[in-house]
Amino acid sequence: MTKIGLEIHCQLTNLESKLFCSCKANYRDFKINENICPICMGLPGTLPRLNQEAVKKATIIAMALNCTTPDKIAFFRKNYFYPDLPKNFQITQLNIYGDTSIGGTGSIMVGEKKINITRIQLEEDPGRLIYEGSSSKNLITLVDYNRAGTPLVEIVTEPDFEGPKQVRDFVNILSDLLENLGVSDPGLDGAMRIDANVSIEGGKKVEIKNIGSFHDLEKAIHFEITRQESLHSRDISIIQETRHWDDKRKITVSSRSKEEDLDYRYFLEGDIPWVRIDPKTKAELKLKMPESISTKKERYVSKFNITPQVATVLSSDKFYSDLFEKSHTESNAKEIANIITTDLMGLVDTREKREESKITGTHLKDLADSIQSGKISRISAKNALYEIVKTGKDLSQVILELDLGNVSDESTILKIIQEVISDEPQAVEQAKSNPQTINYLVGKVMQKTKGKADPKLTLDLLKKQIG
Ligand SMILES: [Zn+2]
Repeated sequence: MTKIGLEIHCQLTNLESKLFCSCKANYRDFKINENICPICMGLPGTLPRLNQEAVKKATIIAMALNCTTPDKIAFFRKNYFYPDLPKNFQITQLNIYGDTSIGGTGSIMVGEKKINITRIQLEEDPGRLIYEGSSSKNLITLVDYNRAGTPLVEIVTEPDFEGPKQVRDFVNILSDLLENLGVSDPGLDGAMRIDANVSIEGGKKVEIKNIGSFHDLEKAIHFEITRQESLHSRDISIIQETRHWDDKRKITVSSRSKEEDLDYRYFLEGDIPWVRIDPKTKAELKLKMPESISTKKERYVSKFNITPQVATVLSSDKFYSDLFEKSHTESNAKEIANIITTDLMGLVDTREKREESKITGTHLKDLADSIQSGKISRISAKNALYEIVKTGKDLSQVILELDLGNVSDESTILKIIQEVISDEPQAVEQAKSNPQTINYLVGKVMQKTKGKADPKLTLDLLKKQIG
């Protein structure tokens, strides 16, 4: 049987400052080596100051993943030399002298499958290496320390996954959950990086390090299972090793096995005292936790009669569910849910488009209300939405500028109906014997009015005309 376990590194991107100093947690807007200070550079004589907000946010993650949360946490030094690690050690957590990590055992459901969480650690991110040069001969390595000290949460799972698809489903659920909690923006480049441990029946465990995209994660695991099975079928033993995902060649490649043997010489970080997280603080945090995705989904279905499929899509994405929450009323909720899932999602289907989009809750409310009152048709609403996303103009202005208002003037519609009747004698005869086919004629009127004829009025008038 295939066994897969994950170690997910997720940056707490919504924090103001780094884990142990006051440099910005959002290092992405800085020029290289500009977001640094003596503390995150590990200069002699400096002392780390723990970011209390990071402790709270990490505790919230632990709670959302149903993990136990100890009353006291401790930090440890993980010693190793690497150019992106200015102190030559990383401040992290370890459960070696009792459960002192921010989160203990927990679990999360992926469909019917329960995935167990081993622990959650709060730690600092190292800096970043940048490779330049065209070949391995003249390759130079540059170091950017802006990221060093960024608050990171490591979520370690049990080897409960049975295949790449299940892993992909899990990371999607986890990423939605973290975004919904307001602790991270997992879509930011480098905000979520994953190591996967893969083993097949009778083989040793192989670790694939540092995979940056969910798509590649699924591919890498798939590749690794195939590679191991191929070795196994030829009676070649699978060695325990660390491999890297080469995202250009789409294969895993062996790293120096030395890394695996490193003795990290963990010891307690004496510069940070043990931190108490008392039950009262935990209760307060729990109270302030946002509504979970599954509760939200159930509410959408039971309160607004939205289909489970639409409710799933809507509730799992914070961008859309925030828009929905800002715009819906009891009477227009279903209409708004439909606008978001059938039209808006197609218009803002990338991160860039979302960021550029000018749509607000008020726009959506106006659109739904106008459709319901017959002021504009659904087709016109779609055209208006396109314009609104692009320009952010008010709906009323867009209707005027693009002449999208419904034609609800009886004589105008009647004139068009008469045209349609003379154009389509066969369809008229059919509609007389089979009233259901009248929709074809309604469609023709819509075509002639570019979707602007009031559909209810059109149907009533048509019925009268055909008799
Ligand atoms: Zn700093």
